[in-house]
Amino acid sequence: MALLDIYVLGAPALRQPTVAVRAVTDELRALADQMHETMHAARGIGLAAPQVGRGERLFVAEVDGRVVTLFNPEVVTAEGKAKGEEGCLSIPDVYADVERAARVVVRGLGRDGEAVELEGTELFGRCLQHEIDHLHGRLFLDYLSPFKRRSALAKWEREKQKYPALRRALTVEAKDLAAQHHDEAL
Ligand code: ZN
Repeated sequence: MALLDIYVLGAPALRQPTVAVRAVTDELRALADQMHETMHAARGIGLAAPQVGRGERLFVAEVDGRVVTLFNPEVVTAEGKAKGEEGCLSIPDVYADVERAARVVVRGLGRDGEAVELEGTELFGRCLQHEIDHLHGRLFLDYLSPFKRRSALAKWEREKQKYPALRRALTVEAKDLAAQHHDEAL
């Protein structure tokens, strides 16, 4: 299965809102499967459609063995507050603490179009919120204080030299490494 390129910060696709899918078709299932492969190759735990240049409301995730494919996801409950470090496959090597809801309940459609309700706390809850943000053109940097955002963007100014076309092309070698490393980029 071909890996998809991941768009990085600066690519307009990351700031465009997505469109709800009308039905989960074979083509969309194939896209979701490619996104899972790409996420693994990039050693991430979540990946949303805009990150691969697509406009459908879809993200995939895998956190602590929980494999998620979710179309048209919505947060229906958000409670409490929790701070934790986040990264993003579209902003490689930049990390910052972000305050999110401590517990969320999310609804959407699964890989076969079935209704799904997920409850998330800790890293899984953080991942759900981060990915749903992507579907509305929001990035974790948007939550930082002006000072912290400036420092994250200064780091990114150096990192982004590696991606002149604003895309990360993934390799099979990186995929092999996935078995050995655990990372928390979403
Ligand atoms: Zn992200």
